[in-house]
Amino acid sequence: MDTLTASSRSYRLTNEQIPPTITESISATERLALTRTIKAALKQQNAVIVAHYYTDESIQVLAEDSGGHVSDSLDMARFGSHATAETLVVCGVRFMGETAKILNPEKRVLMPDLSATCSLDIGCPEADFVAFCDAHPDHTVVVYANTSAAVKARADWMVTSGSAVDVIRALSGQGEKIIWAPDQYLGDYVQQQTGADMLIWQGACIVHEEFKAQELQDLRRLHPQAKVLVHPESPAGVIAQADLVSSTTGLVNAVAQMDATEFIVATDSGIFHKMRQAANDKILIEAPTAGKSATCISCAHCPWMAMNSLQKIAQVLATGNNEIQVASRYIQPASQAIERLLTFTNNNAKQLAGDA
Ligand code: SF4
Repeated sequence: MDTLTASSRSYRLTNEQIPPTITESISATERLALTRTIKAALKQQNAVIVAHYYTDESIQVLAEDSGGHVSDSLDMARFGSHATAETLVVCGVRFMGETAKILNPEKRVLMPDLSATCSLDIGCPEADFVAFCDAHPDHTVVVYANTSAAVKARADWMVTSGSAVDVIRALSGQGEKIIWAPDQYLGDYVQQQTGADMLIWQGACIVHEEFKAQELQDLRRLHPQAKVLVHPESPAGVIAQADLVSSTTGLVNAVAQMDATEFIVATDSGIFHKMRQAANDKILIEAPTAGKSATCISCAHCPWMAMNSLQKIAQVLATGNNEIQVASRYIQPASQAIERLLTFTNNNAKQLAGDA
């Protein structure tokens, strides 16, 4: 297998590039007042909230109470496309707002904080990525959802963690060689599952990268009955101990469906809200991010996801600020890369229904 050792420069973030994780601290009375204000503004502006599983519980509750949606990035994009609302308030990180805008250029897309980004997006700058793709013109370019509109526009396919293995297996089956970007751990996992010929960009999610294999082993000894649920952006030593490796939606479903009462969960702790909703009698334990070999930076909660807050949602609805704009030259090619995935997953779902 050819691997990308390429970089004369690093695509990993330094600690100075990672903001502290600050969660909103407001009283119950303030929360109630903000919730009322936001609901009224949503109604008046024909707007809905589309939120990611990793946002604060108060945002997830509000999204669902007000006719919006809480999910993973692919499902957020699907919901945004089907919603009749004229304005989407995307609570997540910047690439999610951009994806919503690419698929719905006629809609207004607002975000609570435009500086909420992602280490994978930062670690895959457009100019370097385009140069790399241009140097390997015989490769099909597949990028993860966690990339800028500009990087998606250079790709043939966009995939998510839940669809990456299936898409790469299908492409590899057709004899295609792949450029994969930007998450190296997900890329390694997909390569190992499919045997595909892949050039893998060396980016990483600062949250999942912190999960520790040795400390997870120790924790499993203390909870021998617990099933280990792992997101594939995690390091290989953590993935190797998983009972299930899956997308965020797959992990939420597993808590409800698996025949176990205890789970060790290696993904952002924001997901615990949905997991408790799915099965509140189950015991959920955070996978370790710190221990003998490390001190955690994000401590299993994304600092950029934490930038979303009720106060900021109320503010953008009041001012109309923080509207997402995507340069028109990126819309069509990026949309083609995303639509390929949506068609692929729809066809797969139909085939599975047919098989059943
Ligand atoms: S959790 Fe990781 S992949 Fe998700 S937005 Fe944060 S940095 Fe990016």
